[in-house]
Amino acid sequence: MNSKELFSQSSRLFPGGVNSPVRYYDPYPVFMKKGEGSRIYDVDDKSYTDFCLAFGPLILGHSHSEVIKAVRSAVENATSLGAPTENEIKLGNIIQTAVPSVEKMRFTNSGTEATMHALRLARGFTGRNIILKMEGGFHGSHDYALIKSGSGTLTFGVPSSRGIPEEVSRTVVVGQYNNPQSIEEIFKKYGKDIAAVITEPIMGNAGVIKPEKDFLGFLRDITSRNDSLLIFDEVITGFRFGFRCFQDIAGVKPDLTTMGKIIGGGFPIGLFGGRDDIMDKISPVGPVYESGTFSGNYVTMAAGIAALNQLRKMDYSSLEAKSSFFENTLAENMPEKEKFAVSRFGSMFQIFLGIDHPVSYEEVIKADSGKFMRMFHKLLERGVYLAPGQFETNFISFAHSKEELETSALKISETLKETG
Ligand code: PLP
Repeated sequence: MNSKELFSQSSRLFPGGVNSPVRYYDPYPVFMKKGEGSRIYDVDDKSYTDFCLAFGPLILGHSHSEVIKAVRSAVENATSLGAPTENEIKLGNIIQTAVPSVEKMRFTNSGTEATMHALRLARGFTGRNIILKMEGGFHGSHDYALIKSGSGTLTFGVPSSRGIPEEVSRTVVVGQYNNPQSIEEIFKKYGKDIAAVITEPIMGNAGVIKPEKDFLGFLRDITSRNDSLLIFDEVITGFRFGFRCFQDIAGVKPDLTTMGKIIGGGFPIGLFGGRDDIMDKISPVGPVYESGTFSGNYVTMAAGIAALNQLRKMDYSSLEAKSSFFENTLAENMPEKEKFAVSRFGSMFQIFLGIDHPVSYEEVIKADSGKFMRMFHKLLERGVYLAPGQFETNFISFAHSKEELETSALKISETLKETG
């Protein structure tokens, strides 16, 4: 069956025919069946250079042999044990050693769960109610996160989802990333009621917006002065630029960190962790409840251990070099009349059309997302698979070759020359 036929079946089962809205695009998404290295294959056996990479977990590329081997071996023993296992300790140890701010942690099954529990924990620890998040910041799809959010919520025009009680919305205030003044004003107004500030250290769900100098340090300072907690949502940025989190590169230590994606080696995972004294408020030792039937799942842990053990050996500077080469090739070949920006940090990138200064949420929402999607469709025809939305991040993996990156950059520029 081709994608059109499959879509007509899937749309009878799932809203929009998909199990996560970001997978949908008009008139229907291409159905995929296989991934290998940097390539993804559709149901008609057409292959694409994959820059979506399952929205981020696959920094080693699809189906890395070591991860597959570890998963095969794990499922021979068990699928899920519902009891503590040594695998959890192994993955926990790797993460604790690589990310010193994570003194203690809990595994969850998704980034959504991780941020949801981290926010409850921040409230339970401080005895305060208000959470400050950034406009366009995406922290998953629970009620406290779906307020002026990013990613699919922006693409589909619902940055603040319906269905969230007003009482909940009132406890979440929204500041502007890279704009210290907006944060100061909120602290002046809500002062000692703010339990935590949560932010992606690099915004990755409104395209890619890099932190301006000192913005993260400013957040550390203002939260410390007000006895609020600082939470870095490193679901995208954890282990992305080195065998560590972005906080280490920025030199800013949060109180709590959330992770996901890469640390599960392609299997469902999330994690929240941080200061010992805060984490010890979690049940069964403390009064803040958190649980999960599948949390720390045996097979996921095996995949995560294999992926991180592999990543530990990788030369991240080669990934940076490839990514920078891709950015330069793209910039050199862009049509002259095109106003555009390639916003890149390490192997994360997004192409903005119609704007040339993507430094803030206010700027990136002016980008021409209609033109972006026209480019996306033409690229699909040419065998390049970008993340399907202007407010997403694209990823380069260790599996992408320099030749493939060059060819893809040239295809993007040719496409733009054609796209009106
Ligand atoms: N936080 C960030 C920064 C994310 O990018 C995402 C998902 O893309 C999440 C949280 C939610 O993670 P999940 O989709 O695993 O629930």
